[in-house]
Amino acid sequence: MSNSQPAPDKKWRIDQAFNTHKATLSFEFFPPKDDAGYEQLFHAIEELRPLSPDYVSVTYRPGGSSRDKTLQLVSRIQNKLSIRAMAHLTCVGHSREEIGEFLDRLWANGIANVLALRGDPPAGEHFTPHENGFHYASELAPFVRARHDFCVAVAGYPEGHPQCLNRTRDLEMLKLKVDQGASLVITQLFFDNDDFYHWRDAARKMGITVPIIAGIMPILSATQIKRMVMMCGAKIPHPLLVKLESLENDAAAVRAAGMEHTLHQCQDLLKNGVDGLHFYTLNKSTATAEIGRELDLKK
Ligand code: FAD
Repeated sequence: MSNSQPAPDKKWRIDQAFNTHKATLSFEFFPPKDDAGYEQLFHAIEELRPLSPDYVSVTYRPGGSSRDKTLQLVSRIQNKLSIRAMAHLTCVGHSREEIGEFLDRLWANGIANVLALRGDPPAGEHFTPHENGFHYASELAPFVRARHDFCVAVAGYPEGHPQCLNRTRDLEMLKLKVDQGASLVITQLFFDNDDFYHWRDAARKMGITVPIIAGIMPILSATQIKRMVMMCGAKIPHPLLVKLESLENDAAAVRAAGMEHTLHQCQDLLKNGVDGLHFYTLNKSTATAEIGRELDLKK
């Protein structure tokens, strides 16, 4: 283990943001493919900055150059823009040594937060762990904690993980991840708050006491929402589905109805004591900024 680097300043730890009387606000970005994508992303960050996010996170794809992009982007956001940042990290295709080395580089760059994930295999394949790697996020989370004193987040699934054999077992696995040292849970996107509330109640009953942050994706178009449903299995509430279908040929009306739903979804979550809202921005700012400006995050 390498512990020679000084610890990042405590102010960069996400757990420092939970000691207030307001729900946290955070944004997720992905490393763009090209210069035009970076220009769009940094424009989006500047547009979202006035909302004073508590942190932002950067997604991760396995492979040398992709993982370097995550590292470079979190470092740039935190060290140049002074916005608290978290790197996503997955087990796919990596040995423990490779993961340990990546964690050392994050720590050396002052990054104090890691979202520890199993990751997904390439489309159509089953997840196969590296022979000297990890099978589950519940194995990665304690490794991350032991490597350096990171604040560790893990993923949660209000509608159950697509591969879960049983919803209660899925929650037991979430509890295991938290017991292994996670300080917060960020959920998969969902559109029906009732799913979230039932799942959160069950999680609390099971003894999961850490903050549970709701993953939110603003609904902007029928195509986008269908793609998301296919990708992660989130259900669309029936009345919303009927409404979106009735407007399908009118893109502006679909966007208005989708945004209205997302705003009400966020307001309802805040009214019901959500610990934080995490927006899946897809590197765009307009919709998230519109919603963010309307919200009162005070608990
Ligand atoms: P795990 O917690 O390991 O769970 C995977 C499955 O195994 C579940 O069905 C669980 O019930 C089961 N399980 C867990 N532990 C055990 C055990 N000990 N024994 C038996 N069964 C077990 N993917 C990326 O590739 N890059 C990203 O940047 C990324 N960011 C994400 C951010 C968020 C907020 C979320 C919610 C997901 C993200 N994903 C990302 C997707 C994620 O990698 C996939 O959903 C993946 O399939 C599961 O990851 P996990 O960490 O939840 O897995």
